[in-house]
Amino acid sequence: MISDIPTATEFEEHGVDYLNLAWDGIMKILVDLFESSEGGYAIDGQHESKVWESAQRTLSTSLLLTHQGCELLLKSRIAEISPFLLISSNIRNWPKPTKTNAVSFDEIRTLDAQDLPKMHDLVTKYQLSDDFKTSYNTLRKNRNKVSHTVSKNLRFTAAELLKVILGISHELLANKKWFRLRESHLASGVDAALHSNDYDSFVLAREAVILKAELDRPSMLKYFDFDKKRRAYICPVCAYSSSDWDYFEDATIALLKPNTSKSNKVYCFACDGLSPVIRKACNHDDCKGNVLTEDAERCLTCFGDQTE
Ligand SMILES: [Zn+2]
Ligand SMILES: [Zn+2]
Repeated sequence: MISDIPTATEFEEHGVDYLNLAWDGIMKILVDLFESSEGGYAIDGQHESKVWESAQRTLSTSLLLTHQGCELLLKSRIAEISPFLLISSNIRNWPKPTKTNAVSFDEIRTLDAQDLPKMHDLVTKYQLSDDFKTSYNTLRKNRNKVSHTVSKNLRFTAAELLKVILGISHELLANKKWFRLRESHLASGVDAALHSNDYDSFVLAREAVILKAELDRPSMLKYFDFDKKRRAYICPVCAYSSSDWDYFEDATIALLKPNTSKSNKVYCFACDGLSPVIRKACNHDDCKGNVLTEDAERCLTCFGDQTE
């Protein structure tokens, strides 16, 4: 009898964990850079390139974790049909049953990473996109280089790796939003035990601000339905529920929904909140904003107090 048979849910939970750990590593570097320039990226070029040089090891580790996460998510899809489809070795090579007649699943050799997409497309109801297959192959080759050699030519950028993680989440966890997976991960982490709930809201808003600065327009549109060309506003939910809102110089991460001149709601991809707003000109002379919080106390462009 085979014992310890993993389930699709277990593979998925572990896969999501690995992607989050990879993301944590990349974000840590970006947050350090963000903070060193007090909420902007006004760091000088020479200093920044030194930071990235020393960050390569962290980024390489994040790449390994990303690959591991992706592999587990592909296995999860296959295990939905049957975990036994993951077994690759001939029965002749299986471990001998013990006296209790049990062989643990993790003692049996499973499919190699490179064979997972083929098995996935053969047995599941899903079809991997060509973009995903290309990205997975590159990820796998880079994983091999990072694991087996010390290549001086291999350089990663944070934005590249963030996009790889978002691409995996988009393809294999399409029914889940990445920021909600981040929220669950943060809630179960050490920081959550050390800080109050509003700290997680702050971290999520900070990640959204950083992503908006780091990612190109097509990626923000594809993964967050956020158009960088549109005028963006402060999210009232994030602003009121985050500790240290003063930390941000510009935290406009919400867009009018629908995108019309009379629209009276803003949507934020960090907290997934659709908030009612009032359309009225801000009373601060130097601000052209005309979107205020529902109670008309704050401007969602400059966050200026309207009651003064
Ligand atoms: Zn928000
Ligand atoms: Zn204003």
